[in-house]
Amino acid sequence: MNIAKTLKPKDQLKPKPADENNLGFGRIFTDHMLLMDYQTGKGWHNPRVEPYGPFTLDPAAMIFHYGQEVFEGLKAYRGEGGHVYMFRPAANIERMNRSCDRLCIPALPNEVVLEAMYELIRVEQDWIPRAEGTSLYVRPTIIATEACLGVKTSATYLFYIITGPVGAYYAEGFNPVRIWVEEKYVRAAIGGTGEAKTSGNYASSLKAATEAHEKGFTQVLWLNACDRQSIEEVGTMNIFFKIAGEVITSPLDGSILPGVTRDSVLALCRHWGMNVSERQLTIDDIIAAAKAGTLEEAFGTGTAAVISPVGSIHFKGQDYQVADGQTGALSLKLYDEITGIQLGKKPDPFGWVVKVA
Ligand SMILES: *Cc1c(COP(=O)(O)O)cnc(C)c1O
Repeated sequence: MNIAKTLKPKDQLKPKPADENNLGFGRIFTDHMLLMDYQTGKGWHNPRVEPYGPFTLDPAAMIFHYGQEVFEGLKAYRGEGGHVYMFRPAANIERMNRSCDRLCIPALPNEVVLEAMYELIRVEQDWIPRAEGTSLYVRPTIIATEACLGVKTSATYLFYIITGPVGAYYAEGFNPVRIWVEEKYVRAAIGGTGEAKTSGNYASSLKAATEAHEKGFTQVLWLNACDRQSIEEVGTMNIFFKIAGEVITSPLDGSILPGVTRDSVLALCRHWGMNVSERQLTIDDIIAAAKAGTLEEAFGTGTAAVISPVGSIHFKGQDYQVADGQTGALSLKLYDEITGIQLGKKPDPFGWVVKVA
């Protein structure tokens, strides 16, 4: 499929951010975006790069009413030799297609989408910041666009990718987070949409996150919707525990998001010969390990932070410290290894990195 390009004249490009150490997250967008349309009978068609700008949608567009949407989040890095790298981009597009399946959105042509995404990033490569820890965030999204208030699957969709420079997550060094174990609200249940990256999951998580923030906690630890005991994930990250030498994360049972970072952490820990398990842990197991002094580390994993060390866990009115509230050795090693691979600076034994430019 040919990717049409309509580019802004050079003298109309937006100024790049002056201070790469204050980019924040998700507020600055580049000059162009990628678009592609779907129509029943015609399939996905017309991939094109155009100037970034607002859409015109019918107020009855189905996305506004019934939330038929999926998205992804990945990054492009300015790394070794000044080249542009992406980390496991095909895994994100494959996951997007699994999300599409759950939301009854027609599957994307993976190869076309990857090539079009690389093309957009090459067009925008001057936007990729160079300061340590910074990157270009890439947000593929699909929305249902048919104007219809009947509850049904849309006949038309818009796929788009927007990008923007984002700051170093750890501008002031690792900052172990305080976690609130959520007992009142749940994020997802088996059979629901928990394993899809779809807007409704995030809308329904805001109440718990808001109440946890008001109480002074950074993130919510979600428990299984049925037993209210099994660990699911934390905020918008997967979660790992290291207990008595064993690295443990929740299994992909359908209610948690299958993170690319989660998968990368599992692969690296196995590669290093560690004792690794994908198995169900309960909050009681965690508290017992904390009390016994065997809870060595806990950390979240996700594209934004890569590794987010957990400093303490709050459950039933009590704070349980993890690793003395410090960043553990494994957390640090994983962070260094994954970011090193992402930047093309460390060996890439699994072929995860794609050089885009
Ligand atoms: C995106 C996301 C993750 C992390 O996935 P990565 O592919 O590692 O970025 C974990 N949990 C939720 C709920 C997410 O939305």
